[in-house]
Amino acid sequence: MSAAADSLNDRLVVIGTGCAGIELAFSARNAGWTGPITLIGEEPDNPYQRPPLSKAFLTGEAAAESLQLRTAALYKSSKIDLQTGVRAVSIDRETKTVSLGDGTATPYDRLVLATGGRARPLPAAEADAAAASNYFYLRTMADSAGIRARLTPGESLVIVGGGYVGLEVAAAAVKRGMRVTVLEAAPRVLARVTAPIVSGFYEKVHREAGVEILTGEQVESFALSQDGQRIAEVSCASGRRLSADLVVAGIGLLPNAELAAQCGLAVDDGIVVDAGLRTSDPDIFAIGDCTRYFSTIYGRLVRIESVPSALEQARKAAGLLCGKAVRPDAVPWFWSDQYDLNLKMVGLSSGYDHLVLRGSLEQHSFSAFYLADNRVLAVDTVNRPVEFNLSKRLIAEHIPVDATLLADEAVPLKHLLEAGQNQPG
Ligand code: FAD
Repeated sequence: MSAAADSLNDRLVVIGTGCAGIELAFSARNAGWTGPITLIGEEPDNPYQRPPLSKAFLTGEAAAESLQLRTAALYKSSKIDLQTGVRAVSIDRETKTVSLGDGTATPYDRLVLATGGRARPLPAAEADAAAASNYFYLRTMADSAGIRARLTPGESLVIVGGGYVGLEVAAAAVKRGMRVTVLEAAPRVLARVTAPIVSGFYEKVHREAGVEILTGEQVESFALSQDGQRIAEVSCASGRRLSADLVVAGIGLLPNAELAAQCGLAVDDGIVVDAGLRTSDPDIFAIGDCTRYFSTIYGRLVRIESVPSALEQARKAAGLLCGKAVRPDAVPWFWSDQYDLNLKMVGLSSGYDHLVLRGSLEQHSFSAFYLADNRVLAVDTVNRPVEFNLSKRLIAEHIPVDATLLADEAVPLKHLLEAGQNQPG
């Protein structure tokens, strides 16, 4: 019997009740963990999925109940002790206890940190502006409900940040008849994650839908209404001033790594873990958005903010905790829905030297392949589910491809994959 299997009756404590923490608890139970499992989450709600917060929940097409990750009955029948509305405030690695905000302490044998992240604060939003009743970040169900309640036809919405969250909110709000402006400090939207041609495509689609996109534009300050309760106007560094009924800032995420740092674990833009998701303390694992892990596919430390990665890491850590053999790492991927566009991005494009476009921007159906030395690093697919699935294999198996054939729609991607697999080296 392995060392891990010896400890299946130990106390497993998970901090964080996002999709990573919940998946870990259920996967561990299913993989044979017989000891007590405790989930500690600071949010008051029954744990829920976040992606709909900028999509169907925001537009009112999905109800809160449909976002639940598991039913309350399932926690009970799986003997998983779910504690919501309580914050873990410190970890004592000597005594192996987690202190909670309600003054109690929970002992553990194995601890998993799944603390996710929080919205990066906008420097221009000083205390007054951040407290204004019409100023929002978007991370929680409460944030999304607050924004949804203020999506009013004819009123103006200023979105700070042209990343996925900002653009999804723009699509939802313009559909509701709002006048929407997106302010992006970089020269193009989605600059951190896509090639210029994909950014240009998204800018065009949004503009055609009626969204004003202003790039290279930075927010300098906010002017409050006379009663000081609301933001009335947004001032930009260029001198441009925009009146606003609602402001949403989406400028990225800060990993919640403070608990880990306070108890002396290695932290560097996230909680640093090895390829087996272990922190510098072998009894403490970390998974999901809060984690910087060693990717065996890319050969370096990466931090990924995506549901599929969080679930993958949760299943892997649960398997390792239970002494099971685990599958090789999957290629990270992410999706975004805006208008009729289902974007699925697979892999990490940094370091690419060549971009190949396959398909048609005009017809809203294409894939952009990011290559380095004729190997595919990453692919953005728009409304192309089959190419998305094949791309995962092209990346994971480091299959060489011919760029000219890749661009040729007459050559099925499957053929390129098979041809590449048969090439030596
Ligand atoms: P989180 O979901 O952040 O959960 C962490 C939990 O831990 C939180 O509830 C937090 O309150 C809690 N916590 C933190 N510290 C403590 C503490 N000390 N004590 C107790 N509890 C604590 N991903 C996609 O793949 N596709 C999408 O389309 C997509 N859309 C998104 C849209 C929005 C609006 C947002 C906000 C995110 C979206 N994401 C999307 C990203 C995705 O939701 C995250 O990658 C995923 O939620 C990460 O899960 P997690 O469990 O690691 O962290």
